[in-house]
Amino acid sequence: MKRVGVIGGGQLAWMMADAAQKLGVELVIQTPSEYDPAVLIAQETVFAPVDDASATEILAQKCDVITFENEFVNLQALSLLAQQGVCFRPRLEALAPLLDKYDQRCYLRDLGLPVPQFVALDEVENIKSKIEYLGFPAVLKSRRHGYDGQGTFIIQDFATLEQKLSDESKTKTLNQSLFLLEEFVPFEKELAIIAVRSVEGEIVTYPVVETQQEQQVCRRVIAPAEITPNQVAEIEAIAHTLLNSLEVVGIFGIELFLSADGKILVNEIAPRTHNSGHFSLDACETSQFEQHLRAVCGLPLGNPALQCASAVMVNLLGYENSYSDYQSQRQKIAEIPQAHIHWYGKTESRPGRKLGHVTVLLDNQNRESAGAYANEIARTIESIWYPR
Ligand code: ADP
Repeated sequence: MKRVGVIGGGQLAWMMADAAQKLGVELVIQTPSEYDPAVLIAQETVFAPVDDASATEILAQKCDVITFENEFVNLQALSLLAQQGVCFRPRLEALAPLLDKYDQRCYLRDLGLPVPQFVALDEVENIKSKIEYLGFPAVLKSRRHGYDGQGTFIIQDFATLEQKLSDESKTKTLNQSLFLLEEFVPFEKELAIIAVRSVEGEIVTYPVVETQQEQQVCRRVIAPAEITPNQVAEIEAIAHTLLNSLEVVGIFGIELFLSADGKILVNEIAPRTHNSGHFSLDACETSQFEQHLRAVCGLPLGNPALQCASAVMVNLLGYENSYSDYQSQRQKIAEIPQAHIHWYGKTESRPGRKLGHVTVLLDNQNRESAGAYANEIARTIESIWYPR
């Protein structure tokens, strides 16, 4: 496999560049705008939205295999291409139960994996009885196209729920059948694991990490998470069950909740490289991006182990509308010992937009708590990045 087509041209595709070069692989990207980050590193670009299957047909003619950095594709239309012999990795059948959050919850539950209590909001009359079952607070989620907390709302009472449903239906011309309602999990920590499965069915997992979200957006990741060996084993087993059941080839990101009494619940599956695995670019022998390309190209998988005692990754999120490239803040952050900064080269900053990230490798010598140290470094980075 020499030419890999990637549907989506954001930072996740952009971060495949070094690995592609190392492996001697060419990347052909399908993405709508010439300003999308991955256009700069692509051998060739097909300019079209990710759900434009006729553009993917053109992409397929230029590539040996097609993969995804964005899963919001038109599966039905793509399946016609698959029937004609186009190779998608992961396969389309594996994406089918994952693109809708309600279908995804059902799939995980049916596999016997632990998930929060959930219901679909399909009939208006039933909302009252359903909310009685779940109680407040509850979490309302758009079933499709949610990411970075867009379309996820924590709801405290019935009036707000009704209001939100009505607002959302108006703005998105959707009806309520497109919502999922689930119990609010009073988690102690949020965790994630990156797992990859090869063409031969070999599975490799990265260290379990702690992720920290604010307003439903990932702010920081600490690798490894401070959890018990049993909890690590349980999460690795979840990853194995899921990837084997889906028979996927490629990287998956799995987000989880850890409750105060040590229970683990699966929150969400991303069928691609994931923000919770960015630390691997600098902290692991084989990054998630290289690992994904290895898997989809049919190469042997690499070593996912941490090459340092621990690492902390901080997202550099936009906090204003601007065209600045934030040179001086980036320079200051880069001066932190063992800091590796990745700037996605987006031309425009908007509040909440992921503009870059920084990973700091930690040796933890003379530190009582690795987690507290990682949090301290994260605070230092954020105090440089965000205006006071
Ligand atoms: P997205 O697809 O937008 O990332 P998620 O379902 O992952 O949406 O939710 C984003 C964040 O919202 C989670 O990381 C978590 O902090 C919070 N969240 C989501 N679902 C729940 C829940 N059932 N209970 C508590 N918090 C939740």
